[in-house]
Amino acid sequence: LVRPRTGCASIRQRPCRAPASAAVEPRSPSCPDPALPAGAPAPALAPTPTRHHFSDPEEVEALRRNLLAWYDRCKRDLPWRALVRGDIGKQRWGIMWVSEIMLQQTQVATVIDYYNRWMQKWPTLQALAQASLEEVNELWAGLGYYSRGKRLQEAARKVVSELGGHMPRTAEALQKLLPGVGRYTAGAIASISYGQATGVVDGNVIRVLCRLRCIGADSSSPAVIDQLWDMANALVDRSRPGDFNQALMELGATVCVPKAPLCGECPVKQHCRARCRKLFGKPAPVPDVEDCGVGDCPLCPPGTQPWDSSLGVTNFPRKAAKKQARAMRTATCVLERRGCRGGPEYLIMQRPSSGLLAGLWEFPSLPLAEDLQEEREREVLADHLQAWMGQPVAAKSLRFIGEVIHIFSHIHQTYVVYSLPLDGDVTLDPASFPSRWVTEEEFHASAVSTAMKKVL
Ligand code: SF4
Repeated sequence: LVRPRTGCASIRQRPCRAPASAAVEPRSPSCPDPALPAGAPAPALAPTPTRHHFSDPEEVEALRRNLLAWYDRCKRDLPWRALVRGDIGKQRWGIMWVSEIMLQQTQVATVIDYYNRWMQKWPTLQALAQASLEEVNELWAGLGYYSRGKRLQEAARKVVSELGGHMPRTAEALQKLLPGVGRYTAGAIASISYGQATGVVDGNVIRVLCRLRCIGADSSSPAVIDQLWDMANALVDRSRPGDFNQALMELGATVCVPKAPLCGECPVKQHCRARCRKLFGKPAPVPDVEDCGVGDCPLCPPGTQPWDSSLGVTNFPRKAAKKQARAMRTATCVLERRGCRGGPEYLIMQRPSSGLLAGLWEFPSLPLAEDLQEEREREVLADHLQAWMGQPVAAKSLRFIGEVIHIFSHIHQTYVVYSLPLDGDVTLDPASFPSRWVTEEEFHASAVSTAMKKVL
Protein backbone atom coordinates (compact mmCIF):
# COMPACT_ATOMS: atom_id res chain seq x y z
CA LEU A 1 0.00 0.00 0.00
CA VAL A 2 2.94 2.31 0.47
CA ARG A 3 4.01 3.01 -3.03
CA PRO A 4 7.81 2.89 -3.22
CA ARG A 5 9.29 6.08 -4.65
CA THR A 6 11.73 4.09 -6.75
CA GLY A 7 9.34 1.41 -7.88
CA CYS A 8 11.55 -1.23 -6.22
CA ALA A 9 9.16 -2.66 -3.66
CA SER A 10 11.49 -5.49 -2.69
CA ILE A 11 14.10 -3.08 -1.37
CA ARG A 12 11.57 -1.50 0.99
CA GLN A 13 10.70 -4.81 2.55
CA ARG A 14 14.16 -5.35 3.92
CA PRO A 15 14.27 -5.67 7.72
CA CYS A 16 16.54 -3.04 9.16
CA ARG A 17 18.24 -5.37 11.62
CA ALA A 18 19.99 -7.00 8.74
CA PRO A 19 23.77 -6.60 8.74
CA ALA A 20 24.91 -3.27 7.37
CA SER A 21 26.52 -4.88 4.38
CA ALA A 22 23.30 -6.69 3.44
CA ALA A 23 21.22 -3.51 3.84
CA VAL A 24 23.00 -2.09 0.82
CA GLU A 25 21.06 -3.88 -1.84
CA PRO A 26 21.61 -3.26 -5.51
CA ARG A 27 18.74 -1.71 -7.42
CA SER A 28 16.47 -4.31 -8.89
CA PRO A 29 17.43 -5.15 -12.49
CA SER A 30 13.80 -4.58 -13.39
CA CYS A 31 14.06 -0.89 -12.51
CA PRO A 32 17.53 0.31 -13.48
CA ASP A 33 18.55 3.82 -12.60
CA PRO A 34 18.70 5.70 -15.92
CA ALA A 35 21.23 8.12 -14.46
CA LEU A 36 23.83 5.37 -13.99
CA PRO A 37 26.14 4.19 -16.78
CA ALA A 38 25.70 0.54 -17.71
CA GLY A 39 27.55 -1.76 -15.33
CA ALA A 40 28.16 0.93 -12.70
CA PRO A 41 27.50 -0.19 -9.10
CA ALA A 42 24.10 0.96 -7.83
CA PRO A 43 24.01 3.47 -4.95
CA ALA A 44 22.85 2.31 -1.53
CA LEU A 45 19.17 2.89 -0.80
CA ALA A 46 18.10 3.51 2.76
CA PRO A 47 16.05 0.58 4.06
CA THR A 48 12.49 1.43 5.04
CA PRO A 49 11.29 -1.53 7.07
CA THR A 50 7.83 -2.97 6.99
CA ARG A 51 7.44 -2.31 10.68
CA HIS A 52 6.98 1.36 9.83
CA HIS A 53 4.43 0.80 7.05
CA PHE A 54 0.91 -0.50 6.62
CA SER A 55 1.57 -3.56 4.52
CA ASP A 56 -1.58 -5.58 5.20
CA PRO A 57 -4.58 -4.50 3.09
CA GLU A 58 -7.00 -6.02 5.60
CA GLU A 59 -5.49 -4.01 8.40
CA VAL A 60 -5.83 -0.84 6.34
CA GLU A 61 -9.50 -1.59 5.69
CA ALA A 62 -10.09 -2.23 9.39
CA LEU A 63 -8.30 0.96 10.38
CA ARG A 64 -10.39 3.02 7.95
CA ARG A 65 -13.61 1.44 9.22
CA ASN A 66 -12.76 1.93 12.89
CA LEU A 67 -11.60 5.48 12.45
CA LEU A 68 -14.60 6.57 10.36
CA ALA A 69 -17.10 4.91 12.71
CA TRP A 70 -15.51 6.75 15.65
CA TYR A 71 -15.53 10.03 13.71
CA ASP A 72 -19.21 9.65 12.87
CA ARG A 73 -19.98 9.17 16.56
CA CYS A 74 -17.59 11.59 18.21
CA LYS A 75 -16.63 14.45 15.88
CA ARG A 76 -16.81 17.94 17.28
CA ASP A 77 -19.49 20.28 16.05
CA LEU A 78 -17.51 22.95 14.21
CA PRO A 79 -19.02 25.71 12.07
CA TRP A 80 -17.28 24.63 8.86
CA ARG A 81 -18.54 21.08 9.33
CA ALA A 82 -22.10 22.33 9.80
CA LEU A 83 -21.81 24.08 6.44
CA VAL A 84 -20.47 20.97 4.77
CA ARG A 85 -23.54 19.08 5.97
CA GLY A 86 -26.02 21.80 5.05
CA ASP A 87 -26.82 23.66 1.86
CA ILE A 88 -23.45 25.17 1.21
CA GLY A 89 -24.27 26.80 -2.12
CA LYS A 90 -21.78 29.50 -2.97
CA GLN A 91 -19.87 29.02 0.27
CA ARG A 92 -18.24 25.75 -0.77
CA TRP A 93 -15.08 27.67 -1.69
CA GLY A 94 -14.58 29.02 1.76
CA ILE A 95 -15.61 26.18 3.99
CA MET A 96 -12.32 24.42 4.05
CA TRP A 97 -10.07 27.05 2.56
CA VAL A 98 -10.75 29.77 5.11
CA SER A 99 -10.94 27.39 8.05
CA GLU A 100 -7.78 25.52 7.04
CA ILE A 101 -5.78 28.70 6.56
CA MET A 102 -7.00 30.06 9.90
CA LEU A 103 -6.28 26.78 11.66
CA GLN A 104 -2.62 26.81 10.64
CA GLN A 105 -0.70 27.45 13.89
CA THR A 106 -3.93 28.41 15.67
CA GLN A 107 -6.25 26.54 18.04
CA VAL A 108 -9.78 25.59 16.94
CA ALA A 109 -11.34 27.45 19.89
CA THR A 110 -9.69 30.70 18.77
CA VAL A 111 -10.55 30.23 15.12
CA ILE A 112 -14.31 29.69 15.47
CA ASP A 113 -15.23 33.33 16.13
CA TYR A 114 -12.89 34.65 13.43
CA TYR A 115 -14.21 32.11 10.95
CA ASN A 116 -17.85 33.00 11.61
CA ARG A 117 -17.20 36.75 11.28
CA TRP A 118 -15.15 36.22 8.12
CA MET A 119 -17.79 34.12 6.37
CA GLN A 120 -20.51 36.54 7.41
CA LYS A 121 -18.58 39.48 5.97
CA TRP A 122 -17.33 37.75 2.81
CA PRO A 123 -19.67 34.87 1.98
CA THR A 124 -18.44 34.64 -1.63
CA LEU A 125 -15.11 34.69 -3.37
CA GLN A 126 -16.20 37.79 -5.25
CA ALA A 127 -16.91 39.62 -2.00
CA LEU A 128 -13.48 38.76 -0.61
CA ALA A 129 -11.78 39.75 -3.86
CA GLN A 130 -13.33 43.22 -3.54
CA ALA A 131 -12.30 43.75 0.09
CA SER A 132 -9.39 46.04 0.93
CA LEU A 133 -6.30 44.70 2.67
CA GLU A 134 -7.08 47.07 5.53
CA GLU A 135 -10.46 45.35 6.07
CA VAL A 136 -8.80 41.93 5.92
CA ASN A 137 -6.18 42.97 8.49
CA GLU A 138 -8.86 44.45 10.75
CA LEU A 139 -10.78 41.20 10.81
CA TRP A 140 -7.61 39.14 11.19
CA ALA A 141 -6.27 41.32 14.05
CA GLY A 142 -5.30 39.12 16.99
CA LEU A 143 -5.17 35.87 15.01
CA GLY A 144 -1.43 36.15 14.32
CA TYR A 145 0.62 35.20 11.23
CA TYR A 146 -0.95 38.07 9.34
CA SER A 147 0.41 37.13 5.95
CA ARG A 148 -2.17 34.30 5.92
CA GLY A 149 -5.09 36.74 5.59
CA LYS A 150 -3.30 38.77 2.95
CA ARG A 151 -2.53 35.68 0.85
CA LEU A 152 -6.07 34.41 1.20
CA GLN A 153 -7.34 37.65 -0.26
CA GLU A 154 -4.71 37.64 -3.04
CA ALA A 155 -5.74 34.11 -3.94
CA ALA A 156 -9.43 35.08 -4.02
CA ARG A 157 -8.57 37.93 -6.40
CA LYS A 158 -6.64 35.52 -8.59
CA VAL A 159 -9.54 33.06 -8.75
CA VAL A 160 -11.94 35.85 -9.71
CA SER A 161 -9.73 37.71 -12.17
CA GLU A 162 -7.69 34.89 -13.75
CA LEU A 163 -9.61 31.65 -13.22
CA GLY A 164 -13.08 32.82 -14.16
CA GLY A 165 -14.28 32.56 -10.56
CA HIS A 166 -13.74 28.79 -10.48
CA MET A 167 -11.73 27.25 -7.67
CA PRO A 168 -9.21 24.63 -8.77
CA ARG A 169 -10.48 21.23 -7.59
CA THR A 170 -7.42 19.02 -7.30
CA ALA A 171 -4.64 19.23 -4.73
CA GLU A 172 -2.04 19.65 -7.48
CA ALA A 173 -3.85 22.57 -9.14
CA LEU A 174 -4.71 24.25 -5.85
CA GLN A 175 -1.09 24.19 -4.74
CA LYS A 176 0.20 25.32 -8.10
CA LEU A 177 -2.26 28.13 -8.75
CA LEU A 178 -3.17 29.70 -5.42
CA PRO A 179 -0.80 31.85 -3.34
CA GLY A 180 -0.55 30.74 0.28
CA VAL A 181 -1.89 27.24 -0.44
CA GLY A 182 0.74 24.65 0.44
CA ARG A 183 0.66 20.88 0.20
CA TYR A 184 -1.36 20.37 3.37
CA THR A 185 -4.00 23.02 2.62
CA ALA A 186 -4.33 21.83 -0.97
CA GLY A 187 -4.90 18.24 0.19
CA ALA A 188 -7.44 19.34 2.80
CA ILE A 189 -9.48 21.47 0.38
CA ALA A 190 -9.35 18.90 -2.43
CA SER A 191 -10.37 15.97 -0.22
CA ILE A 192 -12.92 17.69 2.01
CA SER A 193 -14.57 20.07 -0.43
CA TYR A 194 -14.15 18.16 -3.69
CA GLY A 195 -13.80 14.49 -2.67
CA GLN A 196 -10.34 13.84 -4.13
CA ALA A 197 -8.75 10.74 -2.57
CA THR A 198 -5.61 12.44 -1.37
CA GLY A 199 -4.05 12.43 2.08
CA VAL A 200 -3.04 15.27 4.38
CA VAL A 201 -0.16 15.61 6.81
CA ASP A 202 -0.32 18.23 9.55
CA GLY A 203 1.02 18.24 13.11
CA ASN A 204 -1.81 16.04 14.40
CA VAL A 205 -1.42 13.52 11.58
CA ILE A 206 2.34 13.40 12.10
CA ARG A 207 1.82 12.51 15.75
CA VAL A 208 -0.78 9.81 15.07
CA LEU A 209 1.12 8.15 12.21
CA CYS A 210 4.45 8.23 14.02
CA ARG A 211 2.82 6.48 16.99
CA LEU A 212 0.89 3.99 14.88
CA ARG A 213 4.09 2.93 13.18
CA CYS A 214 6.78 3.69 15.78
CA ILE A 215 8.50 6.33 13.67
CA GLY A 216 11.02 7.95 15.98
CA ALA A 217 13.43 9.66 13.59
CA ASP A 218 13.24 13.46 13.50
CA SER A 219 9.65 14.07 12.36
CA SER A 220 10.53 17.38 10.74
CA SER A 221 13.19 15.84 8.48
CA PRO A 222 12.33 15.67 4.77
CA ALA A 223 12.85 11.89 4.72
CA VAL A 224 10.28 11.29 7.46
CA ILE A 225 7.83 13.85 6.08
CA ASP A 226 8.00 12.11 2.68
CA GLN A 227 7.28 8.76 4.30
CA LEU A 228 4.32 10.21 6.17
CA TRP A 229 2.85 11.71 2.98
CA ASP A 230 3.19 8.34 1.28
CA MET A 231 1.46 6.71 4.23
CA ALA A 232 -1.33 9.30 4.38
CA ASN A 233 -1.99 8.92 0.64
CA ALA A 234 -2.08 5.14 0.95
CA LEU A 235 -4.34 5.09 4.00
CA VAL A 236 -6.94 7.65 2.93
CA ASP A 237 -10.36 6.10 2.45
CA ARG A 238 -11.28 6.09 -1.25
CA SER A 239 -14.99 6.68 -0.76
CA ARG A 240 -14.84 9.19 2.12
CA PRO A 241 -11.45 10.91 1.77
CA GLY A 242 -12.50 14.20 3.36
CA ASP A 243 -14.04 12.53 6.39
CA PHE A 244 -11.08 10.20 6.75
CA ASN A 245 -8.60 13.09 6.74
CA GLN A 246 -10.67 15.04 9.22
CA ALA A 247 -10.98 11.94 11.39
CA LEU A 248 -7.23 11.45 11.49
CA MET A 249 -6.70 15.09 12.44
CA GLU A 250 -9.54 14.94 14.96
CA LEU A 251 -7.96 11.88 16.55
CA GLY A 252 -4.69 13.77 16.97
CA ALA A 253 -6.47 16.82 18.36
CA THR A 254 -8.70 15.06 20.89
CA VAL A 255 -7.40 11.55 21.67
CA CYS A 256 -3.84 11.05 20.49
CA VAL A 257 -2.79 14.36 22.07
CA PRO A 258 0.86 15.29 22.62
CA LYS A 259 1.31 14.77 26.37
CA ALA A 260 -1.30 12.38 27.78
CA PRO A 261 -2.93 10.45 24.95
CA LEU A 262 -6.15 8.60 25.79
CA CYS A 263 -5.06 5.25 24.40
CA GLY A 264 -7.82 3.36 26.20
CA GLU A 265 -10.46 5.30 24.22
CA CYS A 266 -8.61 5.22 20.93
CA PRO A 267 -10.54 3.72 18.00
CA VAL A 268 -7.34 2.51 16.31
CA LYS A 269 -5.48 1.21 19.35
CA GLN A 270 -5.34 -2.31 17.95
CA HIS A 271 -3.30 -0.95 15.02
CA CYS A 272 -0.91 1.06 17.18
CA ARG A 273 2.62 -0.24 17.43
CA ALA A 274 3.71 2.38 19.96
CA ARG A 275 0.98 1.23 22.33
CA CYS A 276 1.91 -2.37 21.73
CA ARG A 277 5.50 -1.61 22.54
CA LYS A 278 4.45 0.21 25.71
CA LEU A 279 2.26 -2.70 26.84
CA PHE A 280 4.66 -5.49 26.03
CA GLY A 281 7.93 -3.67 26.58
CA LYS A 282 9.35 -4.51 23.18
CA PRO A 283 8.66 -3.73 19.53
CA ALA A 284 5.41 -5.15 18.18
CA PRO A 285 5.83 -8.43 16.36
CA VAL A 286 5.47 -8.08 12.62
CA PRO A 287 4.67 -11.20 10.64
CA ASP A 288 7.35 -12.30 8.22
CA VAL A 289 9.69 -9.48 9.01
CA GLU A 290 12.22 -8.92 11.74
CA ASP A 291 11.79 -6.04 14.15
CA CYS A 292 13.85 -2.93 13.72
CA GLY A 293 16.98 -2.45 15.67
CA VAL A 294 17.98 1.00 16.76
CA GLY A 295 20.64 2.98 15.02
CA ASP A 296 20.74 1.93 11.38
CA CYS A 297 17.04 2.28 10.59
CA PRO A 298 16.18 5.65 9.04
CA LEU A 299 12.78 5.73 10.76
CA CYS A 300 13.65 4.44 14.23
CA PRO A 301 14.74 6.75 17.06
CA PRO A 302 18.42 7.62 16.72
CA GLY A 303 20.79 5.38 18.66
CA THR A 304 21.63 8.32 20.94
CA GLN A 305 17.97 8.65 22.03
CA PRO A 306 16.60 5.12 22.31
CA TRP A 307 13.13 4.16 23.54
CA ASP A 308 12.49 5.59 27.01
CA SER A 309 10.00 3.36 28.82
CA SER A 310 8.94 6.18 31.17
CA LEU A 311 7.56 8.08 28.15
CA GLY A 312 5.47 5.23 26.73
CA VAL A 313 3.77 6.13 23.46
CA THR A 314 4.95 9.73 23.78
CA ASN A 315 8.37 8.47 22.68
CA PHE A 316 6.87 9.30 19.28
CA PRO A 317 7.14 11.58 17.45
CA ARG A 318 10.59 13.06 17.98
CA LYS A 319 11.58 16.49 16.86
CA ALA A 320 14.94 18.14 16.42
CA ALA A 321 15.62 20.74 19.12
CA LYS A 322 13.88 24.01 18.29
CA LYS A 323 16.03 26.96 17.29
CA GLN A 324 16.11 29.51 20.07
CA ALA A 325 13.95 32.57 19.43
CA ARG A 326 15.88 35.76 18.65
CA ALA A 327 15.66 38.39 21.43
CA MET A 328 14.61 41.90 20.32
CA ARG A 329 13.92 45.11 22.24
CA THR A 330 11.72 47.84 20.82
CA ALA A 331 10.93 51.22 22.39
CA THR A 332 7.33 52.21 21.85
CA CYS A 333 5.60 55.43 22.80
CA VAL A 334 1.91 55.89 23.50
CA LEU A 335 1.20 59.49 22.43
CA GLU A 336 -2.00 60.64 24.04
CA ARG A 337 -4.19 63.72 23.60
CA ARG A 338 -7.62 64.82 24.76
CA GLY A 339 -10.13 64.14 21.98
CA CYS A 340 -12.91 66.49 20.90
CA ARG A 341 -15.38 64.54 23.08
CA GLY A 342 -13.14 64.85 26.12
CA GLY A 343 -11.89 61.24 26.15
CA PRO A 344 -8.29 60.21 25.43
CA GLU A 345 -7.09 59.53 21.90
CA TYR A 346 -3.94 57.69 20.86
CA LEU A 347 -1.71 58.06 17.85
CA ILE A 348 -1.09 54.96 15.78
CA MET A 349 0.95 54.56 12.62
CA GLN A 350 1.03 51.93 9.93
CA ARG A 351 3.88 49.47 9.53
CA PRO A 352 5.51 48.88 6.12
CA SER A 353 3.62 46.66 3.68
CA SER A 354 6.15 43.80 3.93
CA GLY A 355 7.93 41.98 6.73
CA LEU A 356 6.72 41.15 10.23
CA LEU A 357 3.17 42.41 10.97
CA ALA A 358 3.02 43.96 7.48
CA GLY A 359 0.45 46.73 7.10
CA LEU A 360 -0.69 46.59 10.72
CA TRP A 361 -1.00 49.65 12.95
CA GLU A 362 1.10 50.30 16.04
CA PHE A 363 2.21 52.99 18.47
CA PRO A 364 5.30 54.82 17.21
CA SER A 365 8.07 52.31 17.76
CA LEU A 366 11.80 52.01 17.33
CA PRO A 367 13.94 48.84 17.42
CA LEU A 368 16.74 49.23 19.98
CA ALA A 369 20.33 48.08 19.84
CA GLU A 370 20.99 45.15 22.17
CA ASP A 371 23.36 46.76 24.64
CA LEU A 372 21.74 50.20 25.00
CA GLN A 373 21.56 51.64 28.54
CA GLU A 374 18.11 52.61 29.85
CA GLU A 375 18.84 56.36 29.79
CA ARG A 376 20.13 56.14 26.24
CA GLU A 377 16.99 54.25 25.21
CA ARG A 378 14.89 57.20 26.33
CA GLU A 379 17.12 59.69 24.46
CA VAL A 380 17.13 57.64 21.27
CA LEU A 381 13.34 57.39 21.36
CA ALA A 382 13.01 61.15 22.02
CA ASP A 383 15.27 61.91 19.02
CA HIS A 384 13.22 59.59 16.85
CA LEU A 385 9.91 61.19 17.89
CA GLN A 386 11.35 64.66 17.38
CA ALA A 387 12.46 63.91 13.84
CA TRP A 388 9.13 62.34 13.08
CA MET A 389 6.90 65.01 14.63
CA GLY A 390 9.01 68.00 13.58
CA GLN A 391 8.90 69.53 17.07
CA PRO A 392 11.16 69.30 20.12
CA VAL A 393 10.67 66.30 22.41
CA ALA A 394 12.63 66.29 25.68
CA ALA A 395 13.81 62.87 26.78
CA LYS A 396 12.67 63.56 30.34
CA SER A 397 9.12 64.21 29.19
CA LEU A 398 8.82 60.54 28.20
CA ARG A 399 7.34 58.59 31.11
CA PHE A 400 8.55 55.01 31.43
CA ILE A 401 5.52 52.76 31.99
CA GLY A 402 6.94 49.23 31.94
CA GLU A 403 7.88 46.38 29.66
CA VAL A 404 5.64 44.10 27.64
CA ILE A 405 6.90 40.76 26.43
CA HIS A 406 5.38 39.11 23.40
CA ILE A 407 6.55 35.88 21.81
CA PHE A 408 6.34 35.65 18.05
CA SER A 409 7.17 32.26 16.53
CA HIS A 410 10.84 33.12 16.11
CA ILE A 411 11.27 36.34 18.08
CA HIS A 412 11.24 36.98 21.81
CA GLN A 413 10.12 40.60 21.68
CA THR A 414 10.32 43.06 24.58
CA TYR A 415 8.46 46.35 24.14
CA VAL A 416 9.83 49.10 26.39
CA VAL A 417 6.75 51.25 26.84
CA TYR A 418 6.76 55.03 27.35
CA SER A 419 3.90 57.49 27.37
CA LEU A 420 3.83 61.09 26.25
CA PRO A 421 0.75 63.26 26.93
CA LEU A 422 0.39 66.05 24.34
CA ASP A 423 -1.38 69.38 24.68
CA GLY A 424 -1.74 70.27 21.04
CA ASP A 425 -1.92 68.34 17.81
CA VAL A 426 0.91 66.74 15.90
CA THR A 427 1.31 67.35 12.20
CA LEU A 428 2.71 64.39 10.36
CA ASP A 429 3.52 63.78 6.76
CA PRO A 430 0.78 61.30 5.74
CA ALA A 431 2.75 60.12 2.69
CA SER A 432 5.78 58.91 4.64
CA PHE A 433 4.05 57.97 7.87
CA PRO A 434 0.42 56.89 7.51
CA SER A 435 -0.95 57.67 10.96
CA ARG A 436 -4.17 58.54 12.75
CA TRP A 437 -5.64 59.37 16.14
CA VAL A 438 -8.01 56.80 17.58
CA THR A 439 -10.14 56.39 20.67
CA GLU A 440 -9.66 53.23 22.72
CA GLU A 441 -12.70 51.69 21.03
CA GLU A 442 -11.40 52.58 17.57
CA PHE A 443 -7.99 51.22 18.52
CA HIS A 444 -9.46 47.80 19.30
CA ALA A 445 -11.42 47.79 16.03
CA SER A 446 -8.29 48.64 14.02
CA ALA A 447 -5.80 46.26 12.43
CA VAL A 448 -3.50 46.13 15.45
CA SER A 449 -1.57 43.17 16.74
CA THR A 450 -2.14 41.41 20.06
CA ALA A 451 1.23 42.77 21.18
CA MET A 452 0.02 46.38 20.73
CA LYS A 453 -3.15 45.61 22.64
CA LYS A 454 -0.96 44.43 25.50
CA VAL A 455 1.02 47.67 25.24
CA LEU A 456 -2.14 49.77 25.56
FE1 SF4 B 1 -2.31 7.43 19.81
FE2 SF4 B 1 -2.62 5.79 21.89
FE3 SF4 B 1 -4.25 5.65 19.77
FE4 SF4 B 1 -1.74 4.86 19.58
S1 SF4 B 1 -3.33 3.96 20.87
S2 SF4 B 1 -2.85 6.11 18.09
S3 SF4 B 1 -0.71 6.34 20.88
S4 SF4 B 1 -4.07 7.36 21.21
